[in-house]
Amino acid sequence: MGDDCTYCGCDVTVHDPVYVEETDADGRRVPAGRFCSYGCLAAHVEAEGLAAGTTCRVELD
Ligand SMILES: [Zn+2]
Repeated sequence: MGDDCTYCGCDVTVHDPVYVEETDADGRRVPAGRFCSYGCLAAHVEAEGLAAGTTCRVELD
């Protein structure tokens, strides 16, 4: 078995993998994705629009 990249489907373990976690309503960490590299992570974030409006330092006006 392998860990397939959430973005491109490659086996991340042959690259330099990056794992992403989120927290659920109870504060528990849950896997949110795995990627070959920061390149695949960045591409996935871009493709899904995950970063839009989510920075913690947004200037509100
Ligand atoms: Zn990948």
